[in-house]
Amino acid sequence: MDISELTMTINQPSLAVVVPCYNEEEVLPKTLSVLLALLSDLEAKQKISSASRIYFVDDGSKDATWAQLEQAAAAYDEVVAIKLSRNKGHQNALYAGLCTTTEDIIVSIDADLQDDPKNIEYMVDEYLKGNEVVYGVRSARHTDTFFKRFTAEGYYHVMKKMGVDLVFNHADFRLLSRRALDTLQQYDESNLFLRGIVREIGFKSSVVEYERQAREAGESKYPLRKMLSFAWKGITAFSTMPLRMITVLGLLSGFVSFFLMVWVLAVRFFSDDAMPGWASTLLPLLFIGSVQLLCMGIIGEYLSKIYEEVKRRPKYHISDIVKKENNKSDL
Ligand code: UDP
Ligand code: MG
Repeated sequence: MDISELTMTINQPSLAVVVPCYNEEEVLPKTLSVLLALLSDLEAKQKISSASRIYFVDDGSKDATWAQLEQAAAAYDEVVAIKLSRNKGHQNALYAGLCTTTEDIIVSIDADLQDDPKNIEYMVDEYLKGNEVVYGVRSARHTDTFFKRFTAEGYYHVMKKMGVDLVFNHADFRLLSRRALDTLQQYDESNLFLRGIVREIGFKSSVVEYERQAREAGESKYPLRKMLSFAWKGITAFSTMPLRMITVLGLLSGFVSFFLMVWVLAVRFFSDDAMPGWASTLLPLLFIGSVQLLCMGIIGEYLSKIYEEVKRRPKYHISDIVKKENNKSDL
């Protein structure tokens, strides 16, 4: 090996592929062989170093997933098998995997091969061009059912309206540099909504578009119930808009109530249409109703401040510091 070859090897980043698995026995053997082939292909192309690994995280599966993973880890140096003590959900399983890695670049991907792993190569290319976050974005959803497509895309629109910054049609297929991952780990919240937090951290990023495939085998582990709860979690973890809406509603109803009160008083004093007790019932009802709503809104505003504080999110991340060398006093 001559010097230039040696520096090439030293400069090649190591890659970690993190795969959360929940009852994936049907698809795992295929996933394993595809990812192993991918690693050796990328190594052969000298894009990644031979210290690259695949981290499978068993999220408390009830089928043969763990047995398969144990076997794979025993058989291949590249495979690391991690078992969670019980089912903690996709986001937590993924996070557990991310935190276990030590490699230079980290790609997260689902076990079902819906996000074609060959895109990992393009992600690595983007990384080599200097991007620290590379989003996998689904350009087409031909294979999703109409219902899944409709709910998923509607969801991105609602999130946007709520002020949550998401990459449209990007799920959890992405590449992170070691620095981006370290930064992500500074987010100390227990309500993990990774695709939102990744947007928060910033850094130079780019996008790799791909067509989402049908599941290779097995069925979706995200039934409607889980999807709705995930969507709601995303909104409440990133947006205080629902609380703000109470204030707005309180103001609106106060405004409308005011005109209604004027009308009630006019009917009471300037016509004979008012029944006894009518005005004295309606007035307090309108008044107290809108005052209560407004007060709840105000409490909501403070609650939203507490919520922001409690999350203890880091306030900034430095992406570059430029200074003259040898001039330490410039710090
Ligand atoms: N998954 C997980 N824990 C869960 C549910 C799902 O680790 O509680 C994993 C699952 O094995 C898969 C990924 O999360 O690798 C995405 O799940 P799925 O493909 O079922 O979701 P969909 O693509 O249908 O939204
Ligand atoms: Mg899937």
